Amino acid sequence: MTIFKGTGVYGAIAAGKIAVFKRTQMPVKRDKIKNPVAEVARFETAKKEAVSRLRELHKKALKEVGEANAQIFEIHMMMVDDEDFNEAVTEMIQSQCVNAEYAVSVTADNFAEMFTAMEDAYMQARAADVRDVSNRIITCLKSDDSLAPQITEQVIICADDLAPSETVSLDKDKVLGFVTAHGSYNSHTAILARNMSIPAIIGVGDAFLSQIRDGDVAIADGFNGEFVLHPDKEALARAERRQAEELEKKELLQKLKGKDNITLDGRKIQVYANIGSLDHIGAVLLNDAGGIGLFRSEFLYLENDDYPSEEEQFKVYKRVLESMPAKKVIIRTMDIGADKQADYFHLDREENPALGLRAIRLCLTRPEVFKTQLRALYRASAFGKLGIMFPMITSVSELKAALAICDQVKRELIFTGKKYATDVELGIMIETPAAALISDRLAPLVDFFSIGTNDLTQYTLACDRQNPHLEAFCDTHHEAILRLISLSAQNAHAHGAWIGICGELAADMTLTETFLRMGIDELSVSPSFILKLRDTIRQIDLSLPPKHL
Ligand code: PEP
Ligand code: MG
Repeated sequence: MTIFKGTGVYGAIAAGKIAVFKRTQMPVKRDKIKNPVAEVARFETAKKEAVSRLRELHKKALKEVGEANAQIFEIHMMMVDDEDFNEAVTEMIQSQCVNAEYAVSVTADNFAEMFTAMEDAYMQARAADVRDVSNRIITCLKSDDSLAPQITEQVIICADDLAPSETVSLDKDKVLGFVTAHGSYNSHTAILARNMSIPAIIGVGDAFLSQIRDGDVAIADGFNGEFVLHPDKEALARAERRQAEELEKKELLQKLKGKDNITLDGRKIQVYANIGSLDHIGAVLLNDAGGIGLFRSEFLYLENDDYPSEEEQFKVYKRVLESMPAKKVIIRTMDIGADKQADYFHLDREENPALGLRAIRLCLTRPEVFKTQLRALYRASAFGKLGIMFPMITSVSELKAALAICDQVKRELIFTGKKYATDVELGIMIETPAAALISDRLAPLVDFFSIGTNDLTQYTLACDRQNPHLEAFCDTHHEAILRLISLSAQNAHAHGAWIGICGELAADMTLTETFLRMGIDELSVSPSFILKLRDTIRQIDLSLPPKHL
């Protein structure tokens, strides 16, 4: 059994035989031609043929992956007609008297390199599109029929890379999964794989290519990006179990997709996802979350050996927002300290770190670090619907200090001509009893509250959440906690703010009805709980006498 690690681009599991996708195209040779006029005419004819084949692919994609994703082939058709590209090819044929195949290939390489050199990851991924389009033109010049590999049974397709047109040309019913040595998360191939709901892993590296053979058995785990070659019996059985679970989820998803989360008596509840990194976005989309209710930004700091720069952070926040178009994304400012330590912060050893310099306290004592994060967040806000929330608030003065720094950051952004959205929602986590008890004073200052029940439980019951021996004393349904949540909900609504829960208790479905009766507007849970929670909400009738209170 050999395991190769890549990046999962679509969360699902495939197990079965593999087929190694080898391109049949011959390398492009440089030939001298005598009649450049005729060669340019040959190029023009090949372009027409390429457009007509792309039109066919567009039709196929429309059926299989929907209009938005089929658009890629419209873009490819436009690329065939791109003036700069065509001028460069024609000029090369005429001035160097070379064959059209060669001129297209060299021009495509130049254009692809230009895209690769761009800073933006999305633009870099366009290099693959240029190569795909030029390969199509070259295929038409050579009068080859198709770029699609022929497959006769269900297989996991393994390749060095796959072009969007190759991906769509494959017989979807026969493809169990895709695994490629190269490729990028933003490539259209990855996007198409996601939309075709096919387990896909990219970037497993060149080594895998030399070890795979047609007919080898493998598992492709699109959740964690693992490609297991020659799995043992246990690994196969595990994969089968997970496939069955996924199937159950899929059925639930089919039932709920696109539907609002409405109780039987008509109350609409938002069900969002909690995530800690960009890697989890796939699971968020797969489970059809209504938004992201908690992005634990501190993981960006924990993964680094030094403070992440404004630019690094901006890119991550922008990606999260762009992945969730028109949906709310709530990013919590860093919650470093206590159990989440990063060496480069050089924090003093504390007797009681959970009661120490953590979260907003740390941000307020290191305003430059805080401002760097806020600048990155506000800049990213131009790319979606952002909410910013502060963790571990215990007083009005802390909140006012944090809000004042936000204002300062916005002023600086205006001054430096940087764009940001003016409708960024600001909120706080209610995770200390103090915050819940003064929630009437805090609510007028914010747009929303989000209850962090993990810490609220720890601080209310004086139970260290890290101490496994305290489990018996740590009653998450304790009346004190429920009262604090209820009080916060009343105060939020009295001042026009909305309220959610993002701690683990949000996924405790024995409490869902209780929370809804308290007036909770949003529940944010790990992606794997989303569908079950949505199903639970749809079975609750708040017009009936309470069952669980
Ligand atoms: C919480 O305290 O409930 C919470 C969501 O924050 P974290 O678990 O990251 O401390
Ligand atoms: Mg917390």
